Amino acid sequence: MSSMQRLVRAHYAGPAGYSFARSAEDVAREYGIDRVARLASNENPRPPSPAAIEAATAALRAGNRYPDARATALVEALRRYHGDYRFVTGAGMDGVIETVIRTVIEPGEVVTVSTPTFSFYGLAAGAHGARVVNIPRSEDFSVDPAAFIKASRRAKLAFLCSPNNPTGNSVPPEDVEEILEAIEGLLFLDNAYIEFSDIDYRPLMRRHENLILGRTMSKAFALAGLRIGYAFVPAWLGPFYSRAATPFALNAVSLAAAAAALGDPDRMLEVCDHVRLWRERFIEEIPFHTFPSDTNFVMIDVSPLTGEEAVERLAAKGVLVRSCTSFPGLGDHYIRVSIGEDWENVRFIEAIKDL
Ligand SMILES: *Cc1c(COP(=O)(O)O)cnc(C)c1O
Repeated sequence: MSSMQRLVRAHYAGPAGYSFARSAEDVAREYGIDRVARLASNENPRPPSPAAIEAATAALRAGNRYPDARATALVEALRRYHGDYRFVTGAGMDGVIETVIRTVIEPGEVVTVSTPTFSFYGLAAGAHGARVVNIPRSEDFSVDPAAFIKASRRAKLAFLCSPNNPTGNSVPPEDVEEILEAIEGLLFLDNAYIEFSDIDYRPLMRRHENLILGRTMSKAFALAGLRIGYAFVPAWLGPFYSRAATPFALNAVSLAAAAAALGDPDRMLEVCDHVRLWRERFIEEIPFHTFPSDTNFVMIDVSPLTGEEAVERLAAKGVLVRSCTSFPGLGDHYIRVSIGEDWENVRFIEAIKDL
């Protein structure tokens, strides 16, 4: 340990922050398995669209130039895909989340988070010096709008994930609207999995000035490795977000790939059909309690096993899944399993029947 470590902020001196799934390479080595089923990170099992690969390759050849700071081609592709909304972009939705926090939150101010959920909202807000207040969901993981409103009414920024990671369920648009009408600050509604659901929150953007819809190209659009996120924002927020954003946060290769992928939605829709079929089959065949899902994963209650035990036993059978133990506010007996390719899903079902 170097004495220079005293320079590190107290905030980072404690336990480690974001918890990552085990790597497939580690599991393969430890158990001597050639091909591990990678069902731990909600990735798309298929490679990006050929159009995206072609556009990214062309952009790589012009890599000596800085990227377009305003992400013009991506924003135009987003308008073609979604219609005439105001968009901002970032290095993954994670980058968008950090920039939104930087834009509106002074250190010491309250940020609320509906939990259990994706941990990065709390980590990013805490790192910025915000006071993070968690609002527990109900026992069945639904969101009680009254409880959410009570805790968030005066907060400048509130985070709600729908469909939610890791529970898989969604908040009805009417409930989101009730929240928007009652709170004084901004609602960041994380829609990372929206393409796998039948819900459309976009009409709410036309009626409310305090809604941000966070989106990512990492899941349905198969570009997790390229780090592309964006958000629908109210018009007033756009210029201030740009001031707070890291210059050139999105690289030219990612920008080109994202714009091209949005122009080739058939591939994305095909994966969504595959996911819908398999998540029904997971829920039918898994011999544990499962939760309904609007996403590309299913949460499973593996008690009397703990999540960690189930992850180890499945890893020994060549299937990598995620324990939910690190999600604040969730018990220690849940795992989250992504929908993969057919062979991965079949191997997982056999393995879990065998636990
Ligand atoms: C995967 C995920 C993200 C992060 O997306 P990136 O664009 O890869 O940063 C955001 N929110 C939720 C709920 C996620 O599961």
